[in-house]
Amino acid sequence: MQPDERYRQRSLWLDGVPSHLSPRPHLPGDASCDVAIVGAGFTGLWTAYYLKTVAPELDVAIVEREIAGFGASGRNGGTVGGGLSGNPRVYARHHDAGLVRKAERLTYQAVDDIAQVVEKEGIDCGWKKGGWLRVAVTPAQRERIDGFIEEKRRWGAEPEDWRLLERDEVERHVRMPGALAGLFTPHAARVDPGRFVRGLADAVERLGVAVYEKTAAVRIEPGRVVTPHGIVRARHVVRATEAFTVQLPGERRRFLPLYSLMIATEPLSPEVWSSIGLEDRETIADLGHLFFYGQRTTDDRLALGGRAAPYRFGAPLDERYERQPEVAQRLTRAIAERFPAAAGAKITHHWGGAIAVPRDWCMSARYDPSTGMGWAGGYSGGGVLSAHLAGRVMADLVLRRTTDLTGLPWVGHRTRLWEHEPLRLIACRSIVAVQRSADEVERHSARTARRVAVIRPFIRGHG
Ligand SMILES: Cc1cc2nc3c(=O)[nH]c(=O)nc-3n(C[C@H](O)[C@H](O)[C@H](O)COP(=O)(O)OP(=O)(O)OC[C@H]3O[C@@H](n4cnc5c(N)ncnc54)[C@H](O)[C@@H]3O)c2cc1C
Repeated sequence: MQPDERYRQRSLWLDGVPSHLSPRPHLPGDASCDVAIVGAGFTGLWTAYYLKTVAPELDVAIVEREIAGFGASGRNGGTVGGGLSGNPRVYARHHDAGLVRKAERLTYQAVDDIAQVVEKEGIDCGWKKGGWLRVAVTPAQRERIDGFIEEKRRWGAEPEDWRLLERDEVERHVRMPGALAGLFTPHAARVDPGRFVRGLADAVERLGVAVYEKTAAVRIEPGRVVTPHGIVRARHVVRATEAFTVQLPGERRRFLPLYSLMIATEPLSPEVWSSIGLEDRETIADLGHLFFYGQRTTDDRLALGGRAAPYRFGAPLDERYERQPEVAQRLTRAIAERFPAAAGAKITHHWGGAIAVPRDWCMSARYDPSTGMGWAGGYSGGGVLSAHLAGRVMADLVLRRTTDLTGLPWVGHRTRLWEHEPLRLIACRSIVAVQRSADEVERHSARTARRVAVIRPFIRGHG
């Protein structure tokens, strides 16, 4: 198989990138620079972007094992959504509550900051800020909305930031059978993430960053990145490998790599879309435990995603896990049930990738000036926006600048490692299995399923 073909098969988005996907040249031999970044997803690229924006004289190189956007950045649901990655209560254990509120509010601002770069760099990625709507389809989901809004208000949101929509208001956005109510935030945009991440890679190259593709880091150490093609020596080394981090020596327990899988229909007719809605290109999700999420794409497909079955013992990441008939069927059923006008549409794409979940589900950006080593990530599935903030912070940390961002509660945040196998595997299987069965219970009764308490020690902020 040609490399271009293999990359196109990774997602609808990479399949649709108009230019070729042949890798850029690999590292030609030993090299040196000021900052070496490992990984050309949103985290690595935003770090490079802000380094060069603030300090154009810096020599910055990125080494990427495949191609820019190969990871989750080129495969995700395309919701650039405001809201802190991680549980505010966990951050507040170590920081002033006011700082946590500020961090939440900064994420809302970040949506517009990203939009400005998209415009300035001329990245054609279908950017549309239409908000994010999560629809309650069971009484238990409806009940969760009030708690969600209360929690958001406690941590910095104003009434207009997250709103309860009654059924008739939901209908103005989307006609979804069974919708009882909705939770809406205007702080979100829809993008084609493939075109976005590839466009960002082109933008950093224009700023003078060397992007070496097909160059795997086999060791990441203070002052150097070792690859099969040579060693990159650098004063600062930044790791931006998200879920793939668990493949690196000594990093196996850093994250729980959870698979999320998507499907996309063929382009749907204007008639079908007039029955569904999403005219403002609001991104959409339900409020299930094993929730679905999705968007109306730039070419009028419906793309829907959901969490997948767990990894196998000993091989947490494998391209074979990226397509799972059981998940594709579940998502196809969700289309038939929640978007019946699209029920007969052909499913043209099925793909997936892993998100990186730290033990306390909280993100981090860390830099150690004594070694010159930094890393950022652990977004637990919310990295399209958070990676932008993390990249900005990482640039400030490397440049030893004290800014508004470097004091944020997730900067320097430490999370303990996941348990050894097989406990991590059991945790992963339990999370997905319990969430699936809790949704089943809530479909047939008005109450919230109590069984989610079983997995509470492993989810959101019970570090
Ligand atoms: C199906 C799916 C749907 C999602 N939906 C959303 C969404 O709608 N909204 C949202 O905010 N988030 C979403 N996410 C999460 C989001 O995509 C990620 O949080 C984000 O893209 C992470 O970016 P990153 O740059 O840190 O990691 P990645 O994009 O994974 O980049 C890491 C890069 O490092 C490279 N690499 C790994 N190991 C090495 C090595 N040894 N040497 C060199 N290079 C290496 C990889 O090839 C990869 O390109 C979703 C994720 C998935 C999988």
